[in-house]
Amino acid sequence: MSNLTFGIIKPDAVRKGVQGAIIQRILDDGFKIRGLKLIHQTRKHAEGFYEVHKERPFFGDLTEFMSSGPCVVMVLEKENAVPAWRTLMGATNPEEADEGTLRREFASSIGENAVHGSDSEENAAIEIAYFFSKLELV
Ligand code: ADP
Ligand code: MG
Repeated sequence: MSNLTFGIIKPDAVRKGVQGAIIQRILDDGFKIRGLKLIHQTRKHAEGFYEVHKERPFFGDLTEFMSSGPCVVMVLEKENAVPAWRTLMGATNPEEADEGTLRREFASSIGENAVHGSDSEENAAIEIAYFFSKLELV
């Protein structure tokens, strides 16, 4: 799985209508898209996804936000996909994100920050399996 990672175009970015622009940036950066679909998560499904953050003060806001509208879930392929995708996303807080990153360009705030990316190969495999069946991966 080392060449795969998992990404989400979060509800804020879909609401703004920038999902196409973000996908184009992903392709321009040399990623192959191995899986892609539009979903609208329930609160419970989002809580399961962010289980590791359940003790954090922002957990309620985060899971409410992630279930507030449609998002695009993606499986991305590239050499060293996990760090490559996090580099393209930029820092969690858009004010700290480098110029040229997706969060710098598209995020509204530290909470509503346009995109998600797995933080390790192990978590990428878990997150891919949380959203995609084998049949949905090409
Ligand atoms: P990342 O998405 O960069 O891996 P984290 O895993 O630390 O960041 O946090 C998961 C998500 O929780 C962030 O993308 C963001 O939507 C939200 N979040 C993180 N920190 C905060 C915070 N201090 N206040 C509000 N929301 C936050
Ligand atoms: Mg994270």
